[in-house]
Amino acid sequence: MEAVRRTVIENCAIATVDAKDTEYASGHLVLAGRRIESLGAGRAPEGLENVVRRIDATGHLATPGLVNTHHHFYQWLTRGLATDRNLFDWLVALYPAWARLDEPMVHAAARGSLAMMVRGGVTTAADHHYVFPRGSGDLSGALVQAARDLGVRFTLARGSMDLGEKDGGLPPDFAVETIEDALAATEETVRRHHDPSFDAMTRVAVAPCSPFSVSTELMRRSAELARGLGVRLHTHGSETVEEVKFCHERFGRGPTDYFESTGWLGEDVWMAHCVHMDDSDVAAFARTGTGVAHCPSSNARLAAGIARVPDLLAAGVPVGLGVDGTASNESGELHTELRNALLVARLGPHREAALTVRQALRLGTHGGARVLGRAAETGSLEPGKLADLVLWRMDTLAHASVADPVAALVLGAPAPVTASFVNGRQIVEGGRLRTADEDEIARTTRAQARRLAEIAARG
Ligand SMILES: [Zn+2]
Repeated sequence: MEAVRRTVIENCAIATVDAKDTEYASGHLVLAGRRIESLGAGRAPEGLENVVRRIDATGHLATPGLVNTHHHFYQWLTRGLATDRNLFDWLVALYPAWARLDEPMVHAAARGSLAMMVRGGVTTAADHHYVFPRGSGDLSGALVQAARDLGVRFTLARGSMDLGEKDGGLPPDFAVETIEDALAATEETVRRHHDPSFDAMTRVAVAPCSPFSVSTELMRRSAELARGLGVRLHTHGSETVEEVKFCHERFGRGPTDYFESTGWLGEDVWMAHCVHMDDSDVAAFARTGTGVAHCPSSNARLAAGIARVPDLLAAGVPVGLGVDGTASNESGELHTELRNALLVARLGPHREAALTVRQALRLGTHGGARVLGRAAETGSLEPGKLADLVLWRMDTLAHASVADPVAALVLGAPAPVTASFVNGRQIVEGGRLRTADEDEIARTTRAQARRLAEIAARG
């Protein structure tokens, strides 16, 4: 048997984000193969065998890799449009273009979205893809391939919509699938791409889009399908006041009660947004272990409101962070969401007690891993866990005089990523991708965005 290869990282501050929030002002990490073997204060132990690489990380903060729990990669091609609308008006403006997506467009958009996140410290990313126009090719395969090529851990939330305009839904009829087609294609995607193993690079979840674009039958049968296959469930919920009104008018109850009635609360479910929740909704999420993907920038961009993150955390609800699609968060970065989550929460009723810088870092790491069902494997720096971590540079003009490195990371300017590792493999070096050419991705995404705009303009 081949001896395991070790990488030693030394002389950096470390925020482990373990259960006790253990930190080291100057410490070391030993990576062995795909996992973290050990870590602690001071230099690494002498006499380690098979050390193939030593990194002097002086001036850096090491954290777990960031985990993005909600995104729509395809939106990379429709950034900067309908910039002054609320969710429903914005959707109606953009659906006609999205209905023209095809495989080369989705592949290019996924590379753009992933590249932007990865160079900013994301090591695990989820994508909620729910637009499958007829004859558009193998969109799920394109998404999985893009993540694999960039070397980032990936959860594909295979979405669906069956409630077109003629049935009282928001999307145009030609952008929706039948219930049978959606379920069959979702099952096939799970069978083809879902890997349940500890160090899996690809997982698949079942993810009908939202109460206002999906029928009750598709919601119910999606939950049954996911539980039969042993995979997770994801959707949008309680995002706007308009959605709450829609649910009351159509189902005679609010979104959370509606989700519960369709089998959609549980430890195997995570939901994006969850902005408009009353105390009984928060209690229902806590009681059932339902997770939340909090997307502060998108919620602000679409004037959706401020999620009750402090109340959700106090109740014990698992909460992670999400970029959301880049048509409602043009930056597409997750490290800036640490800051935005903290700032937005403090504008709410809990004021300065709403969220600490360490809670913000936890949302973006361990919280996200928990929401995606991967907290045993990633999301904190602990012996035995996967070697998914980031070295943030803290000794330049932007951060060198900030007293606390975690405060510098969360409240300061976006910190440069010197190195980022997934499964012990380095995928970012000096702020640039090691696994792809960023300039090529910029050219390709621009070309595909133009192609989509031209095809959509033809109608
Ligand atoms: Zn979304």
